[in-house]
Amino acid sequence: MALIVQKYGGTSMGSVERIQHVAAKVAGFIARGDQVVVVVSAMSGETDRLTKMAREINPRGSKREYDQILATGEQVTISLLALALETQGVKARSYTGWQVPIHTDAAHQKARIQKIDPERLMADCRLGIVPVVAGFQGLTGEGSVTTLGRGGSDTTGVALAAALKADECQIYTDVDGVYTTDPRVEPKARRLDRITFEEMLELASLGSKVLQIRSVEFAGKYKVPLRVLSTFKDGPGTLITLEEHHVEDPLISGIAFNRDEAQLTVTGVPDRPGIAAAILGPVGEANVEVDMIVQNVAADGTTDFTFTVHKNDYDRGLELMQGIAAELGAKGVRGATDIAKVSVVGVGMRSHAGIASQMFKALAAAGINIRMISTSEIKISVVIEEMYLELAVRTLHKAFGLDIATV
Ligand code: ADP
Ligand code: ASP
Ligand code: MG
Repeated sequence: MALIVQKYGGTSMGSVERIQHVAAKVAGFIARGDQVVVVVSAMSGETDRLTKMAREINPRGSKREYDQILATGEQVTISLLALALETQGVKARSYTGWQVPIHTDAAHQKARIQKIDPERLMADCRLGIVPVVAGFQGLTGEGSVTTLGRGGSDTTGVALAAALKADECQIYTDVDGVYTTDPRVEPKARRLDRITFEEMLELASLGSKVLQIRSVEFAGKYKVPLRVLSTFKDGPGTLITLEEHHVEDPLISGIAFNRDEAQLTVTGVPDRPGIAAAILGPVGEANVEVDMIVQNVAADGTTDFTFTVHKNDYDRGLELMQGIAAELGAKGVRGATDIAKVSVVGVGMRSHAGIASQMFKALAAAGINIRMISTSEIKISVVIEEMYLELAVRTLHKAFGLDIATV
């Protein structure tokens, strides 16, 4: 008998039939003697629909009110699943985030879980009742509803598993595990039996939305055994492990990509100390996050300063840079939103040289131009033109020997 937290995502909760399927699955675990706490997402598309409505009414409305409406999606699916479990002869009780309660800070739309009181859920489990908890939401000290950022139900699942000291946190979704890259882009992607927390964290941070970044951080910090599995197909899924890789494991574990960034360049900046601070200071003050940065001095003694921001912050960034360019006596400002970032990730990189040149050669052979490069110990990222994204992913997937063997 095990205590398992199971999180079911939006596609898994996407229709009455699918909710009934999830109920049957949970009932199977209960029949086996396990204790199960379920966390659910809203029906797929619902959070987008709610956001769109709120934006139509007030695009700059208060984040507190956005959270109040966004959290309703999960309130529907908890009760539907509890009702479906009842029809399977399983006792169930639904909980919103604030009924658990799940306490968060007050950073609306990206709140962090601070404390979970697991007592009510434990009491249910002891009585053979399945608690069905709304993902993605919590409560501030002042009693306002918060949400945890898109994809946040993963984090609710992992945080509950930590609070309950569960034997495993299972993330059920529409793919049967973590793949070498998004199988929607590369059908030859392979499911990984296991992946280290460190690599999973990089992949999630670099754009693989199969797990929310914070859920991986949380699982690593509290050592929660975490597994990604399919709701619709039986199988072992992918285990996210603390273990390092074995010698025979591939150098590269996966390829991530991100279409959400935009590029800004201030050209012809007179080169003198303090340029980076003068440019990036106001960006930080405007709460705009910067990702990659490149600065290079030309022969005429001026500097081109390039950085990337989230596409949502592009207009704001461009406006800021136009002001700064004038102040600094720079030549001008250029920007691009048709860019994408592609990254190769693997702990094997630590002990092997030459991965970067292998990556650049493969991209060059495919005729793909690299605009920016950044590296860390276990990843190499490049910014390219967005139209070449899928080609780049497939090219690198093949170049690093990740393609599934065809029979
Ligand atoms: P859920 O609604 O269950 O939370 P998500 O859409 O958030 O599901 O995450 C699952 C999706 O993540 C898959 O359908 C897949 O397209 C995408 N994905 C991106 N990168 C990967 C990867 N490396 N492995 C598996 N799935 C990935
Ligand atoms: N429903 C929320 C979203 O779509 C949370 C989640 O599904 O994890 O982002
Ligand atoms: Mg998700």
